[in-house]
Amino acid sequence: MYRQEFEEVKQLGKGGFGEVWMCRNRLDGQCYAIKKIQLDSSNETLNRKMLREVKTLSGLHHQSIVRYYQAWIESRQGECGIEEDRDKQLLEVQVLYIQMEYCEKTLSEVIAYERLYEAPERLWNLFRQIVSGVAYIHSKGIVHRDLKPKNIFLDFSGDIKIGDLGLARFSQIKGEHEDGEEAHENLVSAASGSLEGDDTSANVGTMLYLAPEVMDSVSSVSDQSKRDVYALGIILFEMWSAFATTMERITSIDRLRRLESFPQGFEAQQVKANRRNVCQLIRWLINAEPTTRPTALQVLDSELLPRTMLESELHQVLPAA
Ligand code: ATP
Ligand code: MG
Ligand code: MG
Repeated sequence: MYRQEFEEVKQLGKGGFGEVWMCRNRLDGQCYAIKKIQLDSSNETLNRKMLREVKTLSGLHHQSIVRYYQAWIESRQGECGIEEDRDKQLLEVQVLYIQMEYCEKTLSEVIAYERLYEAPERLWNLFRQIVSGVAYIHSKGIVHRDLKPKNIFLDFSGDIKIGDLGLARFSQIKGEHEDGEEAHENLVSAASGSLEGDDTSANVGTMLYLAPEVMDSVSSVSDQSKRDVYALGIILFEMWSAFATTMERITSIDRLRRLESFPQGFEAQQVKANRRNVCQLIRWLINAEPTTRPTALQVLDSELLPRTMLESELHQVLPAA
């Protein structure tokens, strides 16, 4: 099915468990992002984990969440494009395909190249879309758990599409033990990764957005969704920042996380521009105490999150509900 129906255009990336390809559907001519995950016949637990992403994504329908089309499993002989398995060439392997909406770029690229902080209107608009996507995910009882600019995409019209729900969970059944383990893993890899002074290691990147209570394996958190809210705070800080280097980005975020203090001049500049709400909102989102952090819905309703021009215009035009 995959080979007959899709033509591979280019590889978009390699994740922990597979590859993502930009593919053109031969029939409709449209481009899609297809994630290929090689299933392991000897590890049912792992396979179930892989299928979880499909189940999570397929139940979500929102303008700010990456659109999911379909998923299917094919058995392939050896060659399935997943490199580590070169020596298993002749074996029959099961590959899970997840067909998603193709997104042009990530928020990480937009932050790095598009000087968002010079376009407050656009910045707030994007951030509001992110928060509304997160509020929607939470309303379904799901926690994303890996919110970061690299997992937040933008489509062709520049609208937000939250993606990579590979780590997402239903908050009710989430065990705290597992979180502690994962936090530990993150810390360990972050410690080794930071020596290189960049965040090419996916784990360092992820670490920066991780709420403190997650790192502390003994803490008990009733509301898992607050960890996504924490990540939103770090993301908002980054959107308003102009980091010269990756090192500066990492140290600034790290300082904000540990000391809740902004880089020199950051706060003064926001105040001067009549944007006291920027730092207030960030502090609220990253509050060390999860129960003090707002819910995503509270953020949307808060006066600290300005309504963008378009939305306020809409409010005038539309009759009150
Ligand atoms: P990990 O599970 O280790 O976090 P990952 O984050 O790299 O892996 P994904 O985020 O699922 O895995 O995707 C891998 C790559 O494919 C990334 O570079 C990502 O930018 C790209 N990608 C994923 N989904 C899409 C999409 N819908 N449109 C365009 N690119 C995508
Ligand atoms: Mg990702
Ligand atoms: Mg991922």
